[in-house]
Amino acid sequence: MSYTLDSNILINMERLYPRDIFPSLWTSIEGLVSQGEACICEAVLRELERGDDDLHIWAKNLHGFLCATHQDEVLTVAAITQAHPGWVSGTQNDADPWVIAHGLQEQRVVVTEETLKGPNTPDRKQKIPNVALEHGVPTMKFFGFVKAQGWSF
Ligand SMILES: [Zn+2]
Repeated sequence: MSYTLDSNILINMERLYPRDIFPSLWTSIEGLVSQGEACICEAVLRELERGDDDLHIWAKNLHGFLCATHQDEVLTVAAITQAHPGWVSGTQNDADPWVIAHGLQEQRVVVTEETLKGPNTPDRKQKIPNVALEHGVPTMKFFGFVKAQGWSF
């Protein structure tokens, strides 16, 4: 199974499991990336660019981590925006449709810390797992992802 990571996964790693304390978590992720099994899309890198410099530089320089946007992803994002016009506003949630579109494009599991919401959730409160489900894209939280690799630290 292969994965594409949402920005909140990397931001949480930096915040909760910093590399100086949890080095093997970071090298394990890097190992997965070198096997082509974990990636991020351009929108996630743009989101990281707005935050911590070290994290952004790490993600940018990690060979094979960043995937260029495929033309079909633009179409998926357009479809998502049409179905949920109130979801993305300004920079709020703006990477989310792209993460889903990238998961769909490369048949990857989206790893995100967002939680599935119940039915009739208004667009502005939509979450990645809900919209991903509409497109048949599986999602997983960080610990689920770590367990799926059989990692323990
Ligand atoms: Zn990718």
